[in-house]
Amino acid sequence: MATSGSIIIEQHTQTPGGSEKAFRPCEHRTMPLPADSHVHSEWSWDTGGPNSLAAGRMETMCERAATIGLPAVVFTEHFDFDDAWRTTPEDLLSHQQGMLDPDGYLRPPPLDVAGYRESIDRCRHRFPDLTILAGVEFGQPHLFRRRASMLVDVSTFDRVNGSLHTLGVGDDRYEPNTLFRM
Ligand SMILES: [Zn+2]
Repeated sequence: MATSGSIIIEQHTQTPGGSEKAFRPCEHRTMPLPADSHVHSEWSWDTGGPNSLAAGRMETMCERAATIGLPAVVFTEHFDFDDAWRTTPEDLLSHQQGMLDPDGYLRPPPLDVAGYRESIDRCRHRFPDLTILAGVEFGQPHLFRRRASMLVDVSTFDRVNGSLHTLGVGDDRYEPNTLFRM
């Protein structure tokens, strides 16, 4: 059941020198819940992908958002074009270990744009009162603009976040958490 989609704010006053019991709510106000504007579902490679235990996560998230009364969710799935970057097992969650090759390179699969869009359409149909935006989190967009445009017209996404997740060192690229420990 949908709630009012708002949160209650209690303002408290304290008597100088008073104990905790001196706190008394003096005013209750409500404010609308904001949109959740950065959400990753099974369509982001780092969740394990649509054939992993993360399958169905988008629908579950929309269901939860509708239940608590969020006005909107913005999916921002990872959209990465680095072929491989260096990392180590300790920087990966268990469901990501299989993407690490024996030479120490992480090889993330590309975003399944068609599957992602079908999933968005399914959720929009199932949750008509929830605004659902289809965005991407574009890793290193300054390096991969051309490769992205060969896959999809990026301007057709509702939102494109630019992210810097890897840095070049020598001939390789690394995630900062790996670099930090080197
Ligand atoms: Zn993100």
